Amino acid sequence: MEQSPPAPKTALVIHGGAGVASRESVPLQDAIAIRQALDQALDAGNAVLQHGGSAIDAVTAAIVVLEESAWFNAGKGSVFDARGGHELDASLMEGHTRRAGAVASVSTVRNPILLARAVMEHSPHVMLAARGAEEFADTRPEIARVAPDWFDTPRRLAQLHEAQAYERADRAPAHGTYFGTCGAVALDVHGHLAAGTSTGGMTNKRYGRVGDSPVIGAGTYADARCAVSGTGWGEFYLRAVVAHDICARVAYRGDSLAKAADDVVNGEVVRLGGDGGAIAVDADGNIAMPYNSPGMFRGWIRPDASRGTAIFADGE
Ligand code: ASP
Repeated sequence: MEQSPPAPKTALVIHGGAGVASRESVPLQDAIAIRQALDQALDAGNAVLQHGGSAIDAVTAAIVVLEESAWFNAGKGSVFDARGGHELDASLMEGHTRRAGAVASVSTVRNPILLARAVMEHSPHVMLAARGAEEFADTRPEIARVAPDWFDTPRRLAQLHEAQAYERADRAPAHGTYFGTCGAVALDVHGHLAAGTSTGGMTNKRYGRVGDSPVIGAGTYADARCAVSGTGWGEFYLRAVVAHDICARVAYRGDSLAKAADDVVNGEVVRLGGDGGAIAVDADGNIAMPYNSPGMFRGWIRPDASRGTAIFADGE
């Protein structure tokens, strides 16, 4: 009897950032709401994958949901910079084509991941920044715009004031210096991979500061075998070129995805003095979600359709 070919695999992993200071910093009601938002993002991305859609569409759909939620440091929930404004960064990459798009330091774009996608699809460039990115957005009617203060939220303002008080006292904030970032990685039925990341950056960052999230290879990377989105202290993720290093270990050394992701996040990043996490998926549907902060908002759907969300190491 002829065997039917194995069902095509899909997989989806998302994160809402590794900037979780402690268990006490996430009250139960908040944790429930955050995990519901993660589930909504999983549903949006998975709907694309289950209809035979592409990994890049799934990643985009999941990140838009996270950007729309004020719980995460991206889109609506973006942190404040030192001047009391918001500068948002995003990037995405498709593995099998190595197409990529990115925007840095935008302040009127409601969903920066959609503008990064437009840069990839409707410009000859990979990254546009600041005013040039805003002017490119002016040419794209599908890109929703908002006034810069649309991103103001009381919770983020309190975090800015707290960070500035620590700065005045010349002390590091007790909770660390970053609060989130969103990302997604996906494997579609065609065996193609994609990764994307969107962030408000780091609280109290200097005006003009750009972190790892919009930098292809640092915060986001995908090739034919591996897709990664990072979250953490961006200066260290830039210097360790985290997302590319994970995929390079898989490509050149044949490391398993789990080993590669763990060695970079818990090895290279920590050795440099940084912290954070990453999510990754490979072409076989293996997933990895290492982090070295107290928690990382995360959600996943494996090829066998098992799914979950978690914040801390015990799965809670
Ligand atoms: N990596 C982001 C940045 O440095 C922050 C984060 O992941 O929370 O801009």
